Amino acid sequence: MEVEILGSGTSTGVPCLGCSCEVCRSEDERDRRLRTSAIVRTDGASLLIDCGPDFRTQMLRATRQELDALLLTHSHYDHVGGIDDLRAYCRRGAFPVYAQPNVIADLKARMPYCFVEHPYPGVPQLEVHELGDREFEVAGVKVLPLPVLHYRLPVFGYRIGPMAYVTDVNHIPDSTLERMHGLEVLIIDALRQTRHLSHFSLPETLSVVRKLQPRRTYLIHMSDGMGLHADVSEKLPPGVELCYDGMLIKV
Ligand SMILES: [Zn+2]
Ligand SMILES: [Zn+2]
Repeated sequence: MEVEILGSGTSTGVPCLGCSCEVCRSEDERDRRLRTSAIVRTDGASLLIDCGPDFRTQMLRATRQELDALLLTHSHYDHVGGIDDLRAYCRRGAFPVYAQPNVIADLKARMPYCFVEHPYPGVPQLEVHELGDREFEVAGVKVLPLPVLHYRLPVFGYRIGPMAYVTDVNHIPDSTLERMHGLEVLIIDALRQTRHLSHFSLPETLSVVRKLQPRRTYLIHMSDGMGLHADVSEKLPPGVELCYDGMLIKV
């Protein structure tokens, strides 16, 4: 299995519009972060996790463009804003989308033109699947939902084999921690150095890492408040790395 990080940035992306801090001015490519999203590729399938407003740009840069399904974590704009561009993947029929029922309801409200009886020619056709918190199968791949909280909003992370992907989180219930034992790779939210209402800060993420002891941990959904990639990387504990856009993680 391989995970390609399409984007590693928070909702604003980095650089942030109107900001002139040293991170937003950095010329290090690793400090230029599109909105958080990834492709998980197994032997038989390519699963997209979230489809934010940078999706089109991200797919043009990706090492491979095929996709079999979309798994959504929640319906904030930075995770769903690119779904209209999935039209390119609907030529052979409706594209499968998996999410919690409230996320599907949000999609129908935001993109009603995709769900009418006689859609305008060319709009994306989405085949929606509502998830419970039980394991499910997509394109032959077993996926275990990881329910977490993003302040008060229930968000789904996903575990696929020895890899877990958990974005937009500031609380992981014990019942979900139990689903996260024995990980080889943990890909997880760490917004910035200081505390935040709805995201783990770096110290909070590192305390989760100490609890779960995954073999390797990769951080996503970072803002300019994380600091420069090069500086922060030097100070991270062994086995923990900041993601950057385009990073390929072999599992
Ligand atoms: Zn987000
Ligand atoms: Zn969010």
